[in-house]
Amino acid sequence: MSLSYRSTRGNGGEISSLEAIVKGIADDGGLFVPSNIEKIDKSMEELQEMDYQSLAYYIINKFFPEFTKEELLNCVNNAYDDKFDTKEIAPIVEQLGVNFLELFHGSTLAFKDMALSILPYLLKTSAVKLGIKDEIVILTATSGDTGKAALEGFRDVDGIKIIVYYPQDGVSDVQKYQMITQEGKNTHVVGIKGNFDDAQNGVKEAFNNKRFNEELKKDGFVLSSANSINIGRLVPQVVYYFHSYLELMKNNKISNGDKINVVVPTGNFGNILAAYYAKEMGLPINKFICASNENNVLTDFFETGIYDRKRELKLTDSPSMDILISSNLERLLSALSGGDANLIADLMNQLTDKGSYEIPESIKSKLGDFYGGFASQDDTSKTIKYVYEKSKYVIDTHTAVAYSVYEKYKEITEDDTVTVIASTASPFKFTRSVSEALGIEIDGKSDFELIEELSSKTGLEIPKPIEGLGDREILHKTVCEKDEMIEAIKNILKS
Ligand SMILES: *Cc1c(COP(=O)(O)O)cnc(C)c1O
Repeated sequence: MSLSYRSTRGNGGEISSLEAIVKGIADDGGLFVPSNIEKIDKSMEELQEMDYQSLAYYIINKFFPEFTKEELLNCVNNAYDDKFDTKEIAPIVEQLGVNFLELFHGSTLAFKDMALSILPYLLKTSAVKLGIKDEIVILTATSGDTGKAALEGFRDVDGIKIIVYYPQDGVSDVQKYQMITQEGKNTHVVGIKGNFDDAQNGVKEAFNNKRFNEELKKDGFVLSSANSINIGRLVPQVVYYFHSYLELMKNNKISNGDKINVVVPTGNFGNILAAYYAKEMGLPINKFICASNENNVLTDFFETGIYDRKRELKLTDSPSMDILISSNLERLLSALSGGDANLIADLMNQLTDKGSYEIPESIKSKLGDFYGGFASQDDTSKTIKYVYEKSKYVIDTHTAVAYSVYEKYKEITEDDTVTVIASTASPFKFTRSVSEALGIEIDGKSDFELIEELSSKTGLEIPKPIEGLGDREILHKTVCEKDEMIEAIKNILKS
């Protein structure tokens, strides 16, 4: 069966995976979805013999059939190499009777590395295959994690430049230093005098400004994005759900065919959607447990079928999940509605126009595999402390949200299915909150001092990517007003 991509909102017809990766988002504002999801055609025993890279090739090939074997293997091998601090790439660690799937062993210590280390190669290969001659300029606004992961992923990739905008006073010290000390001849980092929304709006404006884009085209440049709605970011995330299942089989914690639960700390709904795609391919998953922080739009949604973003955004200790519009939910609704583009377009218009929508009963009745829950700030901090005291295992704030929701789920349902928790960041990435939860005095100390203290208290080694971070040379000093972002791009491309 051949596979193509089309917009969740319908208009624009069928395109290849290559075009979907390069375009990122459809012209009608919808997201690209595959026409069908292929089932795996090898047994779990066969898959078990594969290393992470071979498994990644096998799974990704099912979604992106236009890549030759050589091209895709090249992408996979360049992505999942010794940038990761363990050969397993995504190890499983059992603590307190639950399995933590550690997705933070890449170069920026958060799970975004799992996709952003391969996206540049997928994008580059797609552009070459489509005969695109222009130099690709990746524009990204970041609230902290995505920007650094994109910079690392795209650094020194030929034919691509990357420009990252961050709110000058809106990210943690660790996040800021990770970005402004970024090496690579094609990387550019610009601080914005404004907040994350200002940075994001500036990027959207650059994409939508026709004259600016025509000027760029004349100079041989074309803009693209590394945003989490790009299908090239979603598909590589399917791999580690298979990987975790195979690891559990290897360790005799489950038998082939047994169902597992997955718990995912959720923001934009990308990571948990990848688990859903894995199930569609044939991975035996019982429940998808969707964990939110105090921005609990999704918890309400799974309870009522009403998605309502009309509320104040709360700034929490799990900032990568501080989000009111979970973009990738659109892909789930598209799948559950059998690809009803008119319905999806209507729901998304309602979300834009009045801030909420209610899904019809026909879709609601298909949400039974999902469970939504949320953790308060207090739950999160207590969970970090509890897990550490019980097992000496240190988890970050996002993973703590997931664990806390899982505990509540188990209490209510008494479901004792073997469970995998997606562990999305290293505790060192959110040192301040983790240190505070563990009772370390944080007042008057910099993030860099706290990294040292967290390490000595817990005996955990400081991860290489942030070792000595505060002493590194600052390579990116540009700061601009929020309405000067297009000028900043022009200056960068001229130099
Ligand atoms: C991005 C991120 C999340 C949320 O993932 P989504 O795919 O957006 O749902 C959770 N935890 C961490 C640490 C992240 O960086």
